[in-house]
Amino acid sequence: MTSPGRIPFNDLSRMPTDLSAAIASAVAGVIESGWFVLGPNHAAFETEFAAYLGAREAVLVANGTDALELALAAVGVEAGDFVVTVANAGAYTSVATRLLGGVPVYCDIDPSTLLMSAETFEAAIAGLPIAPKAVVVTHLYGALAPTGAIAAVAARHGIRVVEDCAQSIGARAGERMGGLAGDIATTSFYPTKNLGALGDGGAVFTDDSSLAEAVRQMRQYGWTAKYRIGRAHGRNSRMDELQAAILRVKLPLLDAANERRRAIHTVYESAAPIGARLVNSSSPAFTAHLAVLTTEHRATAREALDAAGIGTDVHYPIADHRQAFPDFTPLPAELPVTDWATESVLSIPLFPELTDDEVARVRDAIDGL
Ligand SMILES: *Cc1c(COP(=O)(O)O)cnc(C)c1O
Repeated sequence: MTSPGRIPFNDLSRMPTDLSAAIASAVAGVIESGWFVLGPNHAAFETEFAAYLGAREAVLVANGTDALELALAAVGVEAGDFVVTVANAGAYTSVATRLLGGVPVYCDIDPSTLLMSAETFEAAIAGLPIAPKAVVVTHLYGALAPTGAIAAVAARHGIRVVEDCAQSIGARAGERMGGLAGDIATTSFYPTKNLGALGDGGAVFTDDSSLAEAVRQMRQYGWTAKYRIGRAHGRNSRMDELQAAILRVKLPLLDAANERRRAIHTVYESAAPIGARLVNSSSPAFTAHLAVLTTEHRATAREALDAAGIGTDVHYPIADHRQAFPDFTPLPAELPVTDWATESVLSIPLFPELTDDEVARVRDAIDGL
């Protein structure tokens, strides 16, 4: 009997051959055109991505962290301003906030969803000496947080709402796509995201044309016209034409890829482990970016899965309020649910190119946890 191979946590080299051929031809087209920055593919992808999302505007930038920084700057975050966010989502918002000289204020999470809720948000802002300028709602693991309820609290306090959709692109909030219940949303096209480039990329999307225009100016030196600097906080944060051309090939495949991810997650949901729980369940409001278990016995669970030949990861092993930021000391925060989640979460393989046999093996392995 041959022993079954290892199941990697993720494997981007499994790109289907018809997709890699389509990408190669798109890349050849860009090379022949001689137009490498802010060209026709870039313009077309902004239009196509906005249309897919049902947003008035999409603005491409260099990566998802720049998207967060520029979105926060667009809604008016300046040095010294407070930005509320969760501490269990990889610190991207903390990094973006610090780049503006802002101060992250951490909010605890709902123990069942591991997301911000209106209640945890309201509790976090209750004791603050000044009202925060913005809140960043992170749709972690691809599941939509209750942005409508959070935005209602934010509106009462004059707080702007940014949604981080880097893990949730394609998730539907009822009739509309997720990301449109706040002022502006951000995403990343990092290769492992559900809509991934072959390099870095990011975007903001919004129904507010003045916010979109602000990001368009900031991504290119703060120019209001060529060579004329008219907006603060300018820099170069452009996405290149090659990535835009590649993303134009991949965008029409996103819904099917998300459907495959959800189908895999549904198989995992059929397992009944005694000592672990899957955080999410499949629905149109969940892109199944990651399949995440919580378990009080994470180290043992990881060892058992490793012994079964299954790769795992932890998203994320250090909460933001426990990071040793070299240039900044987080405000003191009591985040018991966040601390528990940080010790308990375990991600198992979930990517569209897993074979059905591999999915069954992962399911059987988690069934035994
Ligand atoms: C990946 C990610 C980011 C950062 O995107 P980059 O393109 O890597 O800068 C931000 N937020 C979330 C939730 C992410 O998953």
